[in-house]
Amino acid sequence: MAESVYDIVVIGGGPAGAMASHYLVQAGYSVCLVERRSFPRETLCGEFLSHEVIGILRDIGVENEFLALGPSPISRFTLCTDRGPIISESLGFTAFGLKRGAFDQMLLKTAIHRGVHVLQPAEAEAVNRVENGFKTVCRMHEGIQTLQSRWCVGAYGKSSPLDKQLRRPFAGVRSRINGIKFHVPSASLAGVDADEIRIYTGPGMYCGVNHVDGGVATICFLEQRADDTLPPRARLRELMAENKHFERLLGVTGIAAVDHATVYGTGNIFFGRRNLVEDGIFMVGDAGRVIAPLAGDGIGMAMQGARLLGRLFRADMSAGSSSTDLETEYCAEWDKLFRNRLRSAAALQRILFSAPLRRAASSLLAIYPRLLIRAISLTRDRSHRP
Ligand SMILES: Cc1cc2nc3c(=O)[nH]c(=O)nc-3n(C[C@H](O)[C@H](O)[C@H](O)COP(=O)(O)OP(=O)(O)OC[C@H]3O[C@@H](n4cnc5c(N)ncnc54)[C@H](O)[C@@H]3O)c2cc1C
Repeated sequence: MAESVYDIVVIGGGPAGAMASHYLVQAGYSVCLVERRSFPRETLCGEFLSHEVIGILRDIGVENEFLALGPSPISRFTLCTDRGPIISESLGFTAFGLKRGAFDQMLLKTAIHRGVHVLQPAEAEAVNRVENGFKTVCRMHEGIQTLQSRWCVGAYGKSSPLDKQLRRPFAGVRSRINGIKFHVPSASLAGVDADEIRIYTGPGMYCGVNHVDGGVATICFLEQRADDTLPPRARLRELMAENKHFERLLGVTGIAAVDHATVYGTGNIFFGRRNLVEDGIFMVGDAGRVIAPLAGDGIGMAMQGARLLGRLFRADMSAGSSSTDLETEYCAEWDKLFRNRLRSAAALQRILFSAPLRRAASSLLAIYPRLLIRAISLTRDRSHRP
């Protein structure tokens, strides 16, 4: 069994892990990141990259690499409710649509380029506390590799068998909230402009549609399920039956494209509170807390949380504070950064999941459409505008 020693091991190579390792290397630490899948890989996501994301890409000097991937600029938000008219407003900033396969690969390449050691594909199967740190056991094609480190960062996403191993209270909870994504040719959809993100609502679900790179559009929905019997494509047909705007969007061509598309999905997503530090492991991104996707801000939060971690570890290198101080500071600053966004996004998601609240909201928006922009702004980081 091979064993290597690092200052920090980061588990997971999505936006949180790639960015956390990037910032930690910049702060002067030796970092090994382990990612269980080979890249590029697709993953569940609406693929709407908010201005928070673009701001960070600019800060770390990779905006041009990002733009070279051909992301689709998005500057309008359109709400198509199942009970009301279409309401469309300018977002007030430019976001982008880009497939996660391409985006995550670019971030991980940047981290490698800046000095992060990456093991991939390598699955962290166990993390154990040892004297002076952690031992992470990884399964690779070649066999088991053990990593010894002073610190460990959990960036493994919204759920993992590691949650059970760490005895996190939500591990195994059946929330009955599921997410599904399809990629279809943009030409198969009728009526979504190139610069627009649309949200369609229906009973117990909402569905985002926007263009990404390469002449492709992403259809991504979140559903609260009462039973387990309806497959994802049937759920979209149900939305077509309930929402005439969605029916117009997909039509015969769109639904045929969905029938041929790969399904990317995750079940039982837990949106509740989680410990940000679990048995000494610093959690970033979805492993730390999942924001309601309506906000389109999960990736931004993952990257901003990673930046926060990097800043605190950089300060710790010179100050040499205790692990407990670092943990307390991380939790307090994380809460300050994200508390309001999380609350607003959760409240808006509750409205969309409830038929009477949705009806009331769409009547109100028909009279005061600018309220839509006010609602969107509540889910954003207002300190970081491009
Ligand atoms: C329906 C839905 C739609 C969404 N739409 C958007 C959107 O449009 N815009 C947006 O900003 N956010 C969106 N989000 C949220 C966004 O997808 C997440 O917030 C973001 O991916 C979090 O990044 P992460 O790095 O924490 O986790 P992930 O992106 O999930 O990355 C985790 C990585 O860890 C790896 N991993 C897991 N376990 C292990 C292990 N044991 N060992 C090694 N590697 C491991 C995984 O393979 C993965 O690559 C959406 C979420 C949902 C549910």
